[in-house]
Amino acid sequence: MSVFRDSVALITGAGSGIGRHLALLLAAEGAKIAALDLRPDGLASLAAELAGKPIATAVADVTDVVALRAAVAELEGTLGPTDLLIASAGVGRGTPATAWRAEDVNAVLNVNLLGVVNSIDAVLPGMRQRRRGHLVVLSSLASYRGMPHMAAYSASKAGCNALCDSLRVELAPEGIAVTTVCPGWVRTPMTTAIGIPDGVMVPVGPAAQIIVRAIRRRQAFLSFPAGMAWQAWLMRNLPRPVGDWMAGLLLRRIQALQARG
Ligand code: NAD
Repeated sequence: MSVFRDSVALITGAGSGIGRHLALLLAAEGAKIAALDLRPDGLASLAAELAGKPIATAVADVTDVVALRAAVAELEGTLGPTDLLIASAGVGRGTPATAWRAEDVNAVLNVNLLGVVNSIDAVLPGMRQRRRGHLVVLSSLASYRGMPHMAAYSASKAGCNALCDSLRVELAPEGIAVTTVCPGWVRTPMTTAIGIPDGVMVPVGPAAQIIVRAIRRRQAFLSFPAGMAWQAWLMRNLPRPVGDWMAGLLLRRIQALQARG
């Protein structure tokens, strides 16, 4: 029997991409899905696809902690307390130095970092009371070092890694696991807009399967695909001039791929 059977999985950003596919996989294994997103359309189509299975949906903004707490309380009222939080809501806007605006940087940090803080806030007191639970945060390989044109995104995801590392140590004695997930490029609506060809991207279905496997094992950290993860590791750990050179090379490669369409 699946470890997810009859458990309640709260997924932020469940209306699209990775969050949506995780919802479908977990529902197939018998989990009750508490799906939350800013946009109602994705939630409605997810609920239609999971018709007949236990699912509750809520439209809420993860940057609004008061509204988020209320939405999670409502979802838990319908399905029961959250066993598993998957914080997948995120935005992928570029913030190049040539068009630097504090508002753009703040917007990315607000959703990708503070939105995770708020999501954890909405479930952690209950998990601590029950002395069980699992927090899963969608970070990124872009967290390994500041990537050019992605300063805000990289900073937000590096912040997520730090949050997870701190909480993992503190919460282990309370029976609560913490998993940091660092994917490379995954083909979703977020990355479609970037204009990179399919060959470079992991399709979202297999990506979600890899993530579910790590969640099942209550793994501390997951990065994939292996080649990209190695590249990111080298960029972070080689002497800075070499890492900077590699990051510049990667930027030019991405720009060339985008130009080719
Ligand atoms: P996506 O755009 O397909 O889905 C993101 C979802 O988050 C959307 O449904 C959106 O409505 C929701 N969302 C955005 N802002 C929100 C807010 N303020 N409140 C509530 N919901 C909000 O993107 P995705 O590719 O599935 O990304 C999921 C997560 O994985 C993100 O955190 C992203 O940074 C991370 N990630 C994605 C990739 C990739 O290549 N796709 C790689 C690494 C990490």
